[in-house]
Amino acid sequence: MSFAELGLSTPLLRAVSERHYLIPTPVQALTIPAVLQGRDVWACAQTGSGKTAAFALPLLQALAARPPQTPRPVRVLILVPTRELAAQIAAAIQRYAAHLPAAVKVVTVLGGVSINPQMMALRGGAEIVVATPGRLLDLLDHNALSLAQLHTLVLDEADRLLDLGFAQELAQVLQRLPQHRQNLLFSATFPPVVRSLAEQLLKDPVRIDVASTAQTAPAIVQRAIAVDAPRRTQLLRELIQQQGWQRALVFVATRYSTEHLTQKLLRLNIRAGAFHGDLSQGARTQALADFKARRLSVLVATDVAARGIDIEELPVVVNYDLPRSAVDYLHRIGRTGRAGVAGLAVSFVSADTEAHFRLIEKRHALQLTREVVAGFEPTPATRVDEGPALGGVKGRRKSKKDKLREAAPPPAGGFVWPGRPPGGG
Ligand code: AMP
Repeated sequence: MSFAELGLSTPLLRAVSERHYLIPTPVQALTIPAVLQGRDVWACAQTGSGKTAAFALPLLQALAARPPQTPRPVRVLILVPTRELAAQIAAAIQRYAAHLPAAVKVVTVLGGVSINPQMMALRGGAEIVVATPGRLLDLLDHNALSLAQLHTLVLDEADRLLDLGFAQELAQVLQRLPQHRQNLLFSATFPPVVRSLAEQLLKDPVRIDVASTAQTAPAIVQRAIAVDAPRRTQLLRELIQQQGWQRALVFVATRYSTEHLTQKLLRLNIRAGAFHGDLSQGARTQALADFKARRLSVLVATDVAARGIDIEELPVVVNYDLPRSAVDYLHRIGRTGRAGVAGLAVSFVSADTEAHFRLIEKRHALQLTREVVAGFEPTPATRVDEGPALGGVKGRRKSKKDKLREAAPPPAGGFVWPGRPPGGG
């Protein structure tokens, strides 16, 4: 299931791929279509399940379908228990809305800080208001906003809202909303108070319970690093050291390569083991057990051998050789980001695999920045008729052009590691 299959528009898909989300989390897969259909939703989902995008993406899509109005009417009200959550949700919405044809205004309304800047921010209206209930009531009393045209109410972390003593204020807010509206309720737990709130609030809701799967929601950050093919082993070592990777599953194309790369890594004092179909079952079990027990820090594997591997808390998958197909790519990166542990999938892309990687990206509606690691800048690609991309032809002297190219800076727009990973959320 891809985001595109959920019925999201191109600008939203673009934002999602910029966040490096590959596949929808379970709560997203179930919530997005329901919200797009205008249904009420009763969702049991916790932080980390991807619930923010689950409601924000379809609500943005609905907003974008309406002609802009001035002043901007409040269409979506998101009630939250804490200022941290409010700020986080507002920032996430801004990112998801980045490519919509018309700007969407999001205002956060929070207690504990001066009210005036919030009144100012609400001048001219706002399509989305993210609020804690108490301050929202104050602002309503000041006529700083109108909720007469509200289309959707979202209660996020409803259990905490009630826990923190917002029940009365919440009831007052609900009285001030138009009767006819869509309601989305997200809560990690459903004690009797939340259950009765849900029953009172929601009309024929779609019930979504991903509590049990929330822990396995894939949160995989994908990155692509541009590097010359012959330098990949050194780059791998550099990343292991520089990024402090404790364990990495490294994919290569052939059985021979698993052995070959393992030997090279061992010579670099990295505890590596090979994992492929030619090994006896005993040797495979042993390699896997060593990897799981952290006696090996790198397992170098082929696709086929790795299919059934289930390793809890595997933080990093590396595509040393790119997978043959887009489906294999999914299988590979799906080895990480399990059991609620965020995962990182890194693909090494060189001049001769760039076109292939673009096909994989296209298939998954992805567009990863080609990052560059300091000291491993790739040689600028040469045209086919000018000789091989990676270094000169043996015996041929470098032309002036070659030398100029070698001296050129790394590709524009590439990140230089170490840096803050993009898409961390
Ligand atoms: P939330 O549960 O909304 O707080 O989201 C938890 C984290 O998961 C945030 O850092 C999001 O950026 C990230 N996230 C949301 N959806 C996805 C997805 N489909 N794939 C990977 N990461 C995601």
